[in-house]
Amino acid sequence: MVIIMKKIISFVLLFALLSVLYKPIINVSSQQSLAQKVIVLDPGHGGADDGASVGKVHEDELNLKICFALKEELESRGATVYLTRTDDQDMTRRDYNYSKQDDMYLRALKIDEYKPDLFLSIHLNSSNASAWGSQVFYYKKSEEGQRLASCIHSKMKDITGTKKDISSCSFYVLRATQSLGVLIECGFISNANERGQLKSSKYHKKLAKAISDGIEDYEKALAG
Ligand SMILES: [Zn+2]
Repeated sequence: MVIIMKKIISFVLLFALLSVLYKPIINVSSQQSLAQKVIVLDPGHGGADDGASVGKVHEDELNLKICFALKEELESRGATVYLTRTDDQDMTRRDYNYSKQDDMYLRALKIDEYKPDLFLSIHLNSSNASAWGSQVFYYKKSEEGQRLASCIHSKMKDITGTKKDISSCSFYVLRATQSLGVLIECGFISNANERGQLKSSKYHKKLAKAISDGIEDYEKALAG
């Protein structure tokens, strides 16, 4: 009898312990702001295509690093995140006969394959040495794209200080995809000041937070 009582008590204690341990976990996950959202990140360029370059600083490498920081931030808010590339290769994954056209075609297909709630193409800009500032682009025929761009822009400008506004465009990656997406130029690699920031992993985290806040604002407006 004593043994049975002891067993019952230990079961009760174990149950109490488990409910204390698991309850907070369940609560946190259901409150995560981007739970059940599927987001594709598209680090621009890759492989033979470095994108914009200044000396040994290449756009394709920094785009990838910013996307890794974004993935971490978005996942911490409950989103499921996919990247179109996770290494220094283009979409064909062949190391001969580089073709921008093939790369872009496969990129657009890959983005749509994940059926994301939204996607972000991440790039860095390049111009003369005095140009600077982040800019968010949306497809000219997409009203949702414009709303998303506007939400992301208003959070990003707190970090980048940009004076540029959002802009409509007909970039292939936005035009050829079925999914809602925007293209973000995070800053100018050709500007010495901004290049210094864009190389820093701390800055990548700041950008990732700001962009994620913008996505949250967009989702809240949709839900509300
Ligand atoms: Zn680019």
